Amino acid sequence: MKANQSQLFLLIMVFLLMVGEITISLGNDIGDRADAATRRENQYPLTRSLGEERVDSNVLAAGIIAHEFGHVEDASNRPGLWQTYQDYIDLREKRTSELGLQKGLMDPSVTQKLQSVLNGFGAKDIDAVSLDTDPRAERIAIPVIEQSFANNRKKVPERVQKAINKLLGKQK
Ligand SMILES: [Zn+2]
Repeated sequence: MKANQSQLFLLIMVFLLMVGEITISLGNDIGDRADAATRRENQYPLTRSLGEERVDSNVLAAGIIAHEFGHVEDASNRPGLWQTYQDYIDLREKRTSELGLQKGLMDPSVTQKLQSVLNGFGAKDIDAVSLDTDPRAERIAIPVIEQSFANNRKKVPERVQKAINKLLGKQK
């Protein structure tokens, strides 16, 4: 699976070059199940269930990459919104490096940009933005997870299925 993973990585890099504006961050060990199991339930229900279930690390890695692609797809569905968000991240980075963390975060240009991000997402704070975007990315990752289990000739574990149903809004 190692070769497949690096191929996927390459694919992501090419995709990012095409998309241009979005930053994807992946840790060094994307197949780390113990780490996945500690993710916040309301933000990463699917990733967390994969970690808790201690699924094959290649299934987990595929899920995490699919989650990141989910953000890319979400961004292409809502381009203006994500551009504002990326502009905010860039501006915050610039101002905090110029003024220091505290002053940079309080800089009026930064707080104004933040406010337009929050208005766009309909969120009350930046944490609420993550709570909006991560479950969307998880939902987009569902078919990849299902396919990964099928490729490994495994049934989707009950806990994972529950997370999927919840993301799809089915009560079960
Ligand atoms: Zn995410």
